[in-house]
Amino acid sequence: MSNLRVYWMFGIVMIILVLVTFLYPGSAIFGGASSSFYLFMKLFAALGSGAFIVFLVIELANLTKRGRELELKNKELLKRLKEETVGAKHISLMVKRSPDEVYSHTSRTLLRLVKNFFFARDVAFYLIDSERKLLLLEFFEVDTNVNPPEKIKYEGTLFNSVVTEASGKVFPINDIDEEELNGFNLRYKSGCLMLVPVKFDEGQAVGLLVLLSPEEGAWGDSDVQIAEKFSELFSTIIWQIDAIDKLSSVINFYQELNKLQADTPIGIEELEFFKKASGIISRFFDFDKMTVAIYNDEKNEMQIRFVEGIESDATVGDRFELEGGLWEKLTAGGGTLLIEDYDSSDIGYRFQPDDVGISPFRSCLGAALRAGRKLLGGILLESTRKGRYSESDRFAFEIFGRCVGSAYNRLLAYNDLKSLSMIDGLTSIYNRRAFEERLSEEINRAKRYGSIFTLLVIDIDKFKRINDTYGHLMGDFVLKKLAMIIKGSVRNIDTVARYGGEEFAVVLVNANKENALISAERIRSNVEEFLFEKGNVRLHIRVSIGLSEFPADAESGRALIQNADMAMYESKRRGGNVITVFQGNNQ
Ligand code: GH3
Ligand code: MG
Ligand code: MG
Repeated sequence: MSNLRVYWMFGIVMIILVLVTFLYPGSAIFGGASSSFYLFMKLFAALGSGAFIVFLVIELANLTKRGRELELKNKELLKRLKEETVGAKHISLMVKRSPDEVYSHTSRTLLRLVKNFFFARDVAFYLIDSERKLLLLEFFEVDTNVNPPEKIKYEGTLFNSVVTEASGKVFPINDIDEEELNGFNLRYKSGCLMLVPVKFDEGQAVGLLVLLSPEEGAWGDSDVQIAEKFSELFSTIIWQIDAIDKLSSVINFYQELNKLQADTPIGIEELEFFKKASGIISRFFDFDKMTVAIYNDEKNEMQIRFVEGIESDATVGDRFELEGGLWEKLTAGGGTLLIEDYDSSDIGYRFQPDDVGISPFRSCLGAALRAGRKLLGGILLESTRKGRYSESDRFAFEIFGRCVGSAYNRLLAYNDLKSLSMIDGLTSIYNRRAFEERLSEEINRAKRYGSIFTLLVIDIDKFKRINDTYGHLMGDFVLKKLAMIIKGSVRNIDTVARYGGEEFAVVLVNANKENALISAERIRSNVEEFLFEKGNVRLHIRVSIGLSEFPADAESGRALIQNADMAMYESKRRGGNVITVFQGNNQ
């Protein structure tokens, strides 16, 4: 440009000379100059002007050529930008894909755009690791076949200054000592290296854009400013991906909770339920020990029902006092507990007095399980690291606790209902429905293991007379006592049920008819000997018993009952107070 200015000045001087010599021939400038000098001046001016006009024509031609070139370059750039925009449209289509895919595609597209925009040969995008020691290669676009290193320890390198100062810089390759780059290959003997930090949130660098060009002076400060604008786009992507990641994890968490509420089968066993809940916790929270404890309000104590992780200090079945320890704080008030450091807290104890100091755990997050205001228990997550849990964890865990609490309450209510519907209200032993269920379970079990069992049907002799003589209340009293006598005459593993009004049924497991006869006889004699005493009434009763064996006498529950019933009626025919063994349908 400076040359051009000299030409222009020369041209202007020439034009002034031409004007002076041609328009004012007698001008005082030349005083009394001879006509030969005047002629020389004229010639000089004419030649100079001619040269300037030639120069002007050449310069104009040059400008047009440059303009055309620039136009072409612009067109090419526009074309590329258009291509990238097609890419960008593609991005919006990808929103339905996973955050990882969107992140990768968007970053690559942006990186290609940076490469094209700056006419760079090689570009790379590095992320800084969480300990802020390494640059980790995320994406790159290179013209050569030498890939950038996957990891760069950036302390003491050129990268470090850019990362710590969080502002971009251009380095002439000639001035760089390659050892300072810790394995990063410059590839070119001369040219430029541009480093631009990618910042996040509070202005701290979380990544780095690296650009290489073999052209000396390819980039200046204004290019760094533009590159920093591009880097802002990178941080936006990271921010959005981070947000999407967090959001989708939150959405996932609530979906899982919803599933726990909606999809948990109504009759689920307690252990299965806690396993399901702990599966969700494991996916969203980090812990070294998870403890679920259930509250016993009669004793004001807690009992551990489920443990995952380190079990050495407190485990399933252990009981501990609620008062004075960690669990009192956990279950009181708001229903959550967050302790960042056991050592500086006043939790008292975890499960047993003085167990804080000797345990490996240092921080915890807990939530109470409640049904409305009623305390059901609590869940505690413990970590061996201090400060493992944050306030946002506490918030999520509180919601988790509520969902688990209400689902657990349903489980309890169902179990209550189930046992109510299976137990006979008068005698507190199984009712007919429960008995039939137990009988078919027993048949399946016996089939599976090839074992046997014997069914007893017991009916009170002349029971109607008791009702008629002493009233229904006395009848009820007899039924209650009789249930106890039968239960007391068999083993715990045998099933005793009230099968009808004054009919009882017993399953004697692993017993054939000969063994069962002994138990039946014990029942018969115990009943006969028992004195039923209520108010002024004192009486004795007797029972008739029939028995049939599985699978010898029948292979279905219904047929087995029929056969035992038939045998029992045979006992009645024989005068009652006896036992009849089923002997086949021809008896
Ligand atoms: P058998 O020796 O032939 O068995 O004579 P039974 O009187 O025992 O026979 P039956 O089956 O005719 O009578 C059963 C009676 O049991 C009829 C009914 O009033 C009485 N009963 C059934 N359920 C109850 C109950 O829950 N409480 C009372 N108090 N009586 C009941
Ligand atoms: Mg009867
Ligand atoms: Mg009877």
